[in-house]
Formats: sequence, structure tokens, C-alpha cells
Amino acid sequence: MRSNFLLSIFFLSFLANNLFAQKTYLLRPDRIFDGQEIHENWAVLIKNEKISSVGPAAELTFDSQNTEVIDLKGCTLLPGFIEGHSHLFLHPYNETPWDDQVLKESRSYRTARATSHAKKTLMAGFTTVRDLGTEGAEYDDFGLKQAINQGIIPGPRMIIATKALIASGSYGPKGFSADINIPQGAEEADGQDLIKAVRSQIGKGADVIKIYADYRWGVNGETRPTFSVDEIKLIVETAKSSGRPVVAHASSEEGMKRAILGGVETIEHGDGGTTEIFKMMREHGVALCPTIAAGDATSQYRGWKKGTDPEPEKIKNKRITFKSAMDARVTICTGGDVGVFSHGDNARELEMMAEYGMKPIDVLRSATSVNAKVFHQDNLGQIKPGFLADLVVVEGKPEVNISVIRSVKLVMKNGVIFKD
Ligand SMILES: [Zn+2]
Repeated sequence: MRSNFLLSIFFLSFLANNLFAQKTYLLRPDRIFDGQEIHENWAVLIKNEKISSVGPAAELTFDSQNTEVIDLKGCTLLPGFIEGHSHLFLHPYNETPWDDQVLKESRSYRTARATSHAKKTLMAGFTTVRDLGTEGAEYDDFGLKQAINQGIIPGPRMIIATKALIASGSYGPKGFSADINIPQGAEEADGQDLIKAVRSQIGKGADVIKIYADYRWGVNGETRPTFSVDEIKLIVETAKSSGRPVVAHASSEEGMKRAILGGVETIEHGDGGTTEIFKMMREHGVALCPTIAAGDATSQYRGWKKGTDPEPEKIKNKRITFKSAMDARVTICTGGDVGVFSHGDNARELEMMAEYGMKPIDVLRSATSVNAKVFHQDNLGQIKPGFLADLVVVEGKPEVNISVIRSVKLVMKNGVIFKD
């Protein structure tokens, strides 16, 4: 009895130590990017899971007895990066085609992989992910999120979509006999039935409702719109009563237009965006999550030799539309559709945004404070007193060379150091 009691005390304190830092840290890098600007010779004081103060290192007061001081020479400290579009239940399609992942991989196998993906993501300095659909792995993102939140496995905070919604007949896997029903990569629902589908996904843990506003289901396999504007409005109205946003996969002009008019908060991909459409996004306050790295990866899976072959039309077009979204001053999130390419390689999207013409400092803003704001994470994305101590330390100056975000020296989530 007594030993059981002691054991539970030990277990509880172990859990508490893992979940909530009981420590005070003073981190002294060369510079701090606070989510907006770079500040030379600043330091940050962390107490328990929160940022307690930040400012010029010489002016910060702290209790030297009970504070662990960490000097980070040559380093920049930033808010933990926020991945805006991940699929922790997918892995690159050149390893296993998407159809085979959905149809041939068991859910236990996919979950086992996802735990490894989660760890890689966190170690790369991405302390939060908006995970936009399990692609056939049901509600398993909810269990993964629980295990991370309880400190059972290391991983990023997760904002989850569970199954995502598709119009009947529009999605995949495709190409099978009409006599059999093949499991789909997301949940089919239409018309009034959408109300029930949205509510059940919420009940099962969805933080956000993700819809496919268009897909490759045209007569010749071309991308065409799926849901009507009224259907999207119904989804948005239903989700909104519970305080949840709706986000849309859309890459055709008409699909994007319907998503905007239907009231979604972000558009994923947006490859077919025109000047008119981006103007409309700006007017309706819809943000764009461009997923440049996914297109770059799939083009290479299809045989494009980057650096040797000329750029495919799809890539050329993406450069143009990304620039035109920036010119229209559309809010741009950072989200690579990681899963299509390797987890832990999330930096690829930030590098590509810079390569396609965004200033590195704006890329850093997008991946931290902008993503936090768009995803309603009011205590994340900035180095500010009261904010959660999610941060990443990299060697070098990322606002000069974005690629230095790959040289991660330290990752902290909730005031706990995960990489040192
Ligand atoms: Zn995606």
C-alpha cells in the first residue's frame, strides 16, 4: 500500500517534470527575432512554461541562484516555427504512392510512423503543426495529439482536422471497379448531410474543418470545383457555431472563388489564383497557404531533374501566382504540405518562399507570428512576456540566409528543452 503510494508520487512528479518545466532559464543568444524584428544582444528569461521577460541582456534581472544560464554564441533565437500544413500520417509518395498508403498500410503502421514524424518535426524547430487531415487514418491524429500533450512521446503541439471533408465521388483512391466501394482518403458528405459530418468530426476532436473545394475529377481528370457555394456556407455556419474555422484545399480559380464566398479562413495551395482572385482573398481576409515545397517535390517525383531540366509549367506558374498573391497583399501563411516530402524537412517551404521572392525576414514572420494569428494561437509565435516558451535557436543569421534555420541548436516547447 505504502510503496504504491510512494510509487504514484514518484510517477506524478515525473509526469509533472515532463509536462511542465519547473525550471527558470536565461537564454543569451547574440540576437533575438521576436516574431517581428531582430534585436541584437537581447536575452530571454523563461519561468516554468512561459516567457517571463525579454529585452537587452544587460538590463534583465534574474535570480542567479535558481536560474540556469545558457549562452548561445553566434546564434539567433526565434519563436518555435509553426508548420501551417502538415500530414503526419503520410510519408513521401516516392517511397510509397498515396493510394498504397491509404489502402495497404494498416492504421497501426501509420500511427507508428506518425510518432517518428512528430519527433522529427519537433527536433527541426517546428513546435506547432496544423495537421490538415489523416488521409484515411480516421481520427488517429487525436490519439497522437493526446500522447504528445501528455508527454508520452515528443512532438509538436497539434491543431488537427481529423478526416477532412470531400464531396462524394470527387476524391481518391480512384480507378477501381464501380461494383466495389473503396475506402477514401477523407469523409464523403453532401448537402444537408454535411451538418452531421462536421459535427461528428468536431465531436471526435477536430480543431479545424478542412474541405476539398476542388479536386482532379473533371471529365479528363482536370481539377474542377466540388462543393457548391451553399454547401460551403453550410459547412462554415455549422463549424462556426462551435468556434471552429473552415479551411479549404483549392487550386482552381472557381474552387478558390467558391471557398472565399463560402467563408473559409485559409486557402491551401492556390495554384490557379489570378489577380482578381487574390484581390478577393485580400478583401475577404482569407489567407493563402501556398505549399510551394509540395509542388516542387511532386514534380521531382515525376521525373523533373531540378537544376538540369527546364522548369515544368506547373513550377513556372507557381512562381508567378506566389508573386501575384504577395503583390495583392494577401496574408501568406507558411505551410509546405509536409508528408508529401519528408517530415523534419519543414524548412524546405521557408527556403522556397525566399527563393520565390519573399524577403527572408517576411518568411520568418510568416512562419511565426503570422501563422499564430491566422490559426488563432494567441499565446504563440512571438517572444513576449506571458507567451508560451516555444522557441528555437539556430546558428547564424536567418534573415540573411534563410537556410541557417536548418542548423538547430536548441528547441524548447512549453519551457522544456527537447534538443540541446
Ligand atoms: Zn495537404
